[in-house]
Amino acid sequence: MKLKILFFVIIIVFFLISIFIFFQKADEDKNPEVILKPEIIQQTESKKINGDSLLVQVNKQYCLPQDYVPSGLVHISEYGIPETKDFLLRKIVMPDLEAMVDQAKQDGVELRIISAYRSYQNQIETYNYWVDQLGLEEASRQSALPGCSQHQLGTAVDFNELEFSFTYTSAGIWLSKNAWQYGWVISFPLNSESITGYAYEPWHYRYIGKDNALKMQKSGLILSKFLEENN
Ligand SMILES: [Zn+2]
Repeated sequence: MKLKILFFVIIIVFFLISIFIFFQKADEDKNPEVILKPEIIQQTESKKINGDSLLVQVNKQYCLPQDYVPSGLVHISEYGIPETKDFLLRKIVMPDLEAMVDQAKQDGVELRIISAYRSYQNQIETYNYWVDQLGLEEASRQSALPGCSQHQLGTAVDFNELEFSFTYTSAGIWLSKNAWQYGWVISFPLNSESITGYAYEPWHYRYIGKDNALKMQKSGLILSKFLEENN
């Protein structure tokens, strides 16, 4: 009889351990470990990327080192620009950002910052969030792997709302017409996914400086191609 009970207990324990392992595994699948592919890291090192250059190429092929933190980060709140959290950006972008937000305001358009500098660590959270929401394949069309996000540069901003329909709002229209005059350009334009690797993001702008933005505007190139030609 005792032997039977012992056998029964062993079976139960084994069953519980199996269930535990199963759920552990399911959780791992949901949050895949974010590790850069070896070839991406190699490219980063061979290119000796200087993240502080306004024209550095950052995309699915060229990524920033894990420990890269841009120089001269400042709190946007010090500049009175509308934002949804206490965000940071590089000081070098602030005068033109301020001027742009002021001009938009005078034109009756409110530009609000909903994302700005994101550290490598922040990007792991952002990426995992989108994988949870959308699944791995769709997430990789919309969110960058840690190290490969322009947000780690401290010169990229998301405005107002992460919706396709932002295109047709007064803010979306205003930005697409005027942002380049303040050194800000759209990173992932419509119908460019085959080049940029990302779906259209009407809210995401990157600062490259007024002179560069003017050059880019004249060239008719999208940002990714413009950076390729100027590196
Ligand atoms: Zn963005």
